Amino acid sequence: MGQRKFHCPYCNIYLKRVSIKQVQKHNQGNKHVSNYIEHWKKVMITHQNEQNRAQ
Ligand SMILES: [Zn+2]
Repeated sequence: MGQRKFHCPYCNIYLKRVSIKQVQKHNQGNKHVSNYIEHWKKVMITHQNEQNRAQ
């Protein structure tokens, strides 16, 4: 099975030579999940601010 580079934009890290299983494990990790939630919270807040400004 192939190994590949993996970049997680939510944690802002690069993992080198990880297997798909390791990526899946990362994606289920508590740290990743909270980074993921924080990321989308920020996106939604930014979006709301832009909408408020447009009104
Ligand atoms: Zn991550």
